[in-house]
Order: sequence, then structure tokens, then C-alpha cells
Amino acid sequence: MGEVSESVTMDDYEVVIIGAGICGLATAVALHKKGIKSIVMERSETLRSITGAAIGIRQNGWRALDQLGVADVLRGTAIPIQRERFVGLDGGKLQETSMKGETRCLRRKDLIDTLYAALPPATVKFGCELESIKLDPNTKKPVLRFIDGSSITPKVVIGCEGGKSIVANFLNLKATKMFPLCSVRGLSNYPNGHSFDHDFARFRKDNSLVGRIPIDNHLVYWFCGRPYVPIEERIWEDPEAIRRSTLELLTDYPQEIKEMIEIADAKSLSFTHLRYRSPWDLLTGTFCKGSVTVAGDAMHVMGPFLGQGGSAGLEDAVVLARNLAQMGLDRVEEAFNLYVKQRRLRVVQLSLQTYLTGMLVGASSRLMKIIFIVLLSLLFRNLSGHVDYDCGGL
Ligand SMILES: Cc1cc2nc3c(=O)[nH]c(=O)nc-3n(C[C@H](O)[C@H](O)[C@H](O)COP(=O)(O)OP(=O)(O)OC[C@H]3O[C@@H](n4cnc5c(N)ncnc54)[C@H](O)[C@@H]3O)c2cc1C
Repeated sequence: MGEVSESVTMDDYEVVIIGAGICGLATAVALHKKGIKSIVMERSETLRSITGAAIGIRQNGWRALDQLGVADVLRGTAIPIQRERFVGLDGGKLQETSMKGETRCLRRKDLIDTLYAALPPATVKFGCELESIKLDPNTKKPVLRFIDGSSITPKVVIGCEGGKSIVANFLNLKATKMFPLCSVRGLSNYPNGHSFDHDFARFRKDNSLVGRIPIDNHLVYWFCGRPYVPIEERIWEDPEAIRRSTLELLTDYPQEIKEMIEIADAKSLSFTHLRYRSPWDLLTGTFCKGSVTVAGDAMHVMGPFLGQGGSAGLEDAVVLARNLAQMGLDRVEEAFNLYVKQRRLRVVQLSLQTYLTGMLVGASSRLMKIIFIVLLSLLFRNLSGHVDYDCGGL
């Protein structure tokens, strides 16, 4: 099993986290800060720090990063974003608002590497792909089986393996669903500096949307949202196919946008069909069973329309570790019940607002657009209120 050596004893497996993405690493850091040792099992052979290029972090996410003790290092890697700008290229009005609270766009690599660096050596075991989880009929302890045939029986399991979580299946959560939308993401470097303001600009035309956020004075993160076209998915493994198809879609966009996509670093280009767990499944789902629970996208994968999925995973990490530390490893079940109780309303609200926003973006008729606008304004009086959330101390 990858790097798990003979010298690792069963005690090392008391708390096992599955997946070394943003949430798995953040959870390990949070537990470490509370003096709880954990092991993170990651299926890749190395840190997956390039996928997705960059991530916007709003005030609520920075609060969680502050608790994890990594915010100050990360602040040094990205400029603060001052404004949001919406530009309708169909003759729509320009809307400009100042950004509420601290907002920065981080390279995913910086976030993942910084979380990883905050962990004791050898916390993450690479090349360990979970195949199944079940309960031992006698001890009722979770038995984890990996694809290389090895298995372990830890005391505690936290599934942070993203939107296709095996641990979520074990908890009998309903299957996640797909939006009829997809997103292309990339990073563009301007060696002589770019001339963009420090704002989050969104350009819209017909059924496509382009977002652009500077990370620093040279590097810019961008994404393009578009309707999903069911074609052979393997095509999107070729970055040049992603670039070509995106440029074809954006022929009527301003030259500076097309140029940004033309110069994007091929390694940073990715295509994602957007997945979500429905808000009503989040309202009723069982998110822990005994000493097994889920966090991050494994619990609440949501579309990127509010840019909150990753920050919600950081919040999960803080709340989970706080409860586990308060109750101790002898009262894991109580700790997990409390964790789920403290997170449920927050993730239901985030995912409902995200879902309605995504449906608004994807709606083809004027009537449907009006319905989603009315629902959003009735249910969420303050559309940026979600960034005020404070997950509390560790
Ligand atoms: C287009 C797009 C834009 C986004 N923009 C933002 C944004 O601006 N701000 C924001 O906050 N969020 C954003 N998000 C959401 C954010 O990317 C996710 O919420 C976040 O990455 C989830 O982190 P995670 O650690 O829970 O899961 P993941 O990132 O999916 O990590 C899961 C890890 O588990 C590993 N793994 C999977 N299966 C197994 C297995 N069986 N065994 C062992 N390991 C396994 C994977 O290799 C991976 O390393 C966006 C999402 C998309 C799609």
C-alpha cells in the first residue's frame, strides 16, 4: 500500500482521513492543532495541487484559515480583491459593487502545499485508494479495504474523498446529481504584468459566462461556465482541446478575454462537469454512523456559483476537530452528532443558494429566470450574507 511502511503500528490508524484534498488536509491540520494524531490516505501518488488552478476565498474561508494557523502565509501569496464587476456583453448594464470582506484568489497549489506543510512528516500516505468500508460485525469498528487488497480497522474514519465519496455511500447518502453545466478553468501569466484592476470581473453573453480574478500582478485565474454537451469525456483530458473549444465558444468576447485564454498555461487547463448534492438530501441525510463521518465535498459537493464549496470544507474541518477535541476519542459518536448538527443548516443554506443561482445561470426561458430570481430574493434577502458566517474557534 503506497508508502505505508512496516513500522506503522495500528495505533497510527486511530483516526483515518480519506482524501488529501483541501478538506482532508485541513481536517488533519485542525486535529493536529488540537493534539489529535491522524493519518490521511490519498489515492494519488503525489499531492493533487494543480487540478482546478485556483480558488476564491471569501471572509468566512479566511476565518477558518486563521483558525488553522495558515492564513498569514497564504495572505502573502495573493492580492486582496476590492470589487465585483458584472458586464453584460449583450448590451446589459455594467454593475459594480465593492467586495464584502476579505477576498483573495489563491493558487490551489499554494493552499494545498501550505496545509501539507503544517502537518507532521508522513501524515499523508500516498497511493492508498479506498475500495470499500464496512463495519466489523463483532467489534462494530469500521473496516477499510484498499484496492491493493490491504485493510485496516481504525477507530475513527472521516471521508474527505470528494463528490464521488465511498464513505458517503456507506452512510447511505443519496447519489449526487449533475448540473447541465460545465466549467473550464485556467491560469494565465503576464510576464510584464497585466493591466487588470484588482476586481472579480464576470462577463456574460448568451449562455456562457467568463470570470476573471487576478492572483497577483502577473497571474490571473479565469473560468468559463457553459452548458454541458454530452460528448466523449476523454476529449477533455487534452488541454489543447479544452482551449480550442473554449475559444470557439467565446468568439464574440472582447480581445483581452480571448488573449487570456490563448496564453493560459496548458497544465492549468481543466474541464469539469458540475456535480451537486441536492439541498433537500443535505437537510435529511445521515452524515455520521458510529465513528464514521464525512466532510467537504463528500458531504456537500455544490456548484461553483457562490465560490463556497472549498471554504465550506475548511469550516467543516474546524468544527469537526473542535468537537472531537472537546469530547475526546472515547465519545466520538457524540462528537460527530454535534458536528453534523452544527454544520447541517449552514451547508443546506449554502447549497440551496448555490443551486438556485446555478439554475438561474442555466435557465433558458425568461419565465424560469424570473422564478429563480424571485425564489432567491425571497429566501436570501442578503445575497452575500453567507460570507459573514463565522465557524468559531478551533
Ligand atoms: C469549477 C469550480 C470552481 C470552484 N471554485 C471555488 C471557489 O472559488 N471557492 C471555493 O471555496 N470553492 C470552489 N469550488 C469548490 C471546491 O473546489 C471544492 O469544494 C473543494 O475542492 C473540495 O475539496 P475536498 O477536499 O472536499 O474534495 P476534493 O478536492 O475532491 O479532494 C478529494 C481528495 O480525495 C482523493 N480521493 C478520492 N477518492 C479516493 C479514494 N477512494 N481513496 C483515497 N483518496 C481518494 C482525491 O484524489 C482528492 O485528493 C469550485 C469547484 C468547481 C468545480
